[in-house]
Amino acid sequence: MTDFLQLPSLKTLAVRSDDEFYVVEAAGRSDWLTCQLCEVGRLHGHGSQEQSFQDTPSHGKPVRIVIQRRRYRCIACGKTQFEPIADIDGKRQATGRLVNYVRTHCFRETFAAMARQVALDEKTIRHIFDDFVAELGTSVRFLTPRVLGIDEIKIIGSYRAMITNIERKTVFDVRPSRAKADLLPYFRQLRDKDNVELVAMDMYHVYRQVVKATLPQARIVVDRFHIQRMANEAVEKLRKRLRKDLSARQRLKLKDERFMLLKRQHDLDAAAMARMLAWFEQFPLLGEAHALKEGFLSIWDQKSRAGAEAACERWLGNIAPELAPVFKDLTTAVRNWHDEIFAYFEQPITNAYTESVNRLAKDMNRMGRGYSFEVIRARMLYDKKAREDGAVVETVLVDDFNPNLAEFTYSRAGPSVRKKKVQQVVEYGPYIPTLCKLLEEGHFE
Ligand SMILES: [Zn+2]
Repeated sequence: MTDFLQLPSLKTLAVRSDDEFYVVEAAGRSDWLTCQLCEVGRLHGHGSQEQSFQDTPSHGKPVRIVIQRRRYRCIACGKTQFEPIADIDGKRQATGRLVNYVRTHCFRETFAAMARQVALDEKTIRHIFDDFVAELGTSVRFLTPRVLGIDEIKIIGSYRAMITNIERKTVFDVRPSRAKADLLPYFRQLRDKDNVELVAMDMYHVYRQVVKATLPQARIVVDRFHIQRMANEAVEKLRKRLRKDLSARQRLKLKDERFMLLKRQHDLDAAAMARMLAWFEQFPLLGEAHALKEGFLSIWDQKSRAGAEAACERWLGNIAPELAPVFKDLTTAVRNWHDEIFAYFEQPITNAYTESVNRLAKDMNRMGRGYSFEVIRARMLYDKKAREDGAVVETVLVDDFNPNLAEFTYSRAGPSVRKKKVQQVVEYGPYIPTLCKLLEEGHFE
């Protein structure tokens, strides 16, 4: 009969089973003669102890292994030691293959479901997961971006800082929060900090403080969609205020006009344009605010930084005093972030895929039920398919030093080791379009 456990270091003695469990009595196979600690002393039997370990489920049932583990005593050094059983994990009350089983499944199932399936407690599952993610954190390395994006993403009710590689459209990392206490040490310890030349961000003061303190060489560019959105928000603020003074019927109508007001004027058809002008006749202030919004957005039609800055100055001068409070958030942002806003005209980078990131966030929250932030982060960051799509095979020069042949090339500078070109896979992180596609297909459900 074949051995139930099929483990090289354990021999099955008996198998008991009920509706819920398998209990396997087993014994170690090793025959020690010499002490493993002093490596010279002979070992003598020194009793045994009953120990139990969880193993991978069999036929859908959790498996528990019970062994009488032999203990030895060394006649030379006097130390006692248990017989070695290679298939037992060193840290957990489990076999090594169960730990591996949990590692391969813990991204796809909740800790609670996992714990039920293998009959370990949830805390142990979490520890195995934590060890695994820490291991991935050192073994999987994404190249630090040249053009880095910082965005926020809402996962399980909190804003997290999502760090992206703008050129590669990949996620570089997701931090548990966007607080300075989290981001400052993170960026301080970032590998290859000098790689970062440009940083696109929204106008969040913590991001700017952290980047200035830790990546002083990097140029900060405000994501233009974030600042442009504030012009729309100003029009919205006024529209909502005006609605309060309207009859119920008109109020409802003005509610429907939201998208018309937010659309760029040159994208409106004749009918919408006529409807809009009718509103402006009733509310001249709304017409003025709308014109200011259009004027602000057209700053980005400028070709040069100087042209854009001049257009912005003119625009600021056009704000009527009664509209100043409506546009206050925007004008304050323009003042506080002037350099970073207009840096765009010299370095036109944006978090242009913000839309897909936002959709990603929504889907993440849906699948977030039952998972912790750490699990969602790990599933996103270490997804194999998305990582493959984000990786690039690059040709790099490495030393071609063969000690047997000791080949050198000589140049005027003296002897140098010959270089050879090798193809190397460089990982940049999970590719965002792939992550979106996988989410759509329900891969993370
Ligand atoms: Zn010894």
